[in-house]
Amino acid sequence: MSPPRIGVSAVVRVWDGIERSGVNSAYLRAVIAAGGVPVILSHLTGAALAARALEGVDGLLLSGGEDIHPSWYGEAPAEQLWPPSRERDLFELALFAVARQRGLPILGVCRGIQLINVALGGTLYQDLRSQRPGAVDHFPSAGREARSHHIRLAPDSRIARALGAEAVIVNSIHHQGIKQLAPSLRPTGWDDDGLIEAAEGREDASWLLAVQWHPEEMHAQDAAPEARLFREFVRAAELAAELLNAELAKRAVG
Ligand code: MN
Repeated sequence: MSPPRIGVSAVVRVWDGIERSGVNSAYLRAVIAAGGVPVILSHLTGAALAARALEGVDGLLLSGGEDIHPSWYGEAPAEQLWPPSRERDLFELALFAVARQRGLPILGVCRGIQLINVALGGTLYQDLRSQRPGAVDHFPSAGREARSHHIRLAPDSRIARALGAEAVIVNSIHHQGIKQLAPSLRPTGWDDDGLIEAAEGREDASWLLAVQWHPEEMHAQDAAPEARLFREFVRAAELAAELLNAELAKRAVG
């Protein structure tokens, strides 16, 4: 079949005095290297058209970025909250709902795991340093691709199978984190302080996996397990598209 199309949620920012919509190229490169065709999804489209934006898309990658507004999980903004984007929250919550309903594979990265957790009823630490101080620095000054802290993975989880390991050292570029995990998610990765950094959906449901770190920044490193993670995701999107096409063909015949 032809390469699956992977929708990638974007940021809207002002660069060089001009408002632009885009994503870090690392996300696109990781998807392309894994055999997918990335499609950038800007929240300028609006939540009401999220279903239309996902037509012809075979998988959804929820990318990193702004803090999620804490009102979505019933809290007032803390002093340390970074500026949220109501429009991006609304658009991505709608994308997530549509993708779930259609059975599309979903990969969440950084803000993506937080968005998925909040969408399914979980809560967040608005700022780890002030609300959950620990030994692990989740926002070190090292480069975006620098592996800086350990993650223990649950054996027999999607993430452990995808990475081919039960422990990894990951990069870390986040100041928020999972507080209460949504009841329908399974925790499958933890830092040395017990903070949840990977979560996934049920094995018998559509492919849903989310991580707090940034695998897209490391997929191109020599023999990086993160490349396998993106291949698993793109492969899941391909399978989902094949299933959908088979279903449509059956209906056309029927
Ligand atoms: Mn971390």
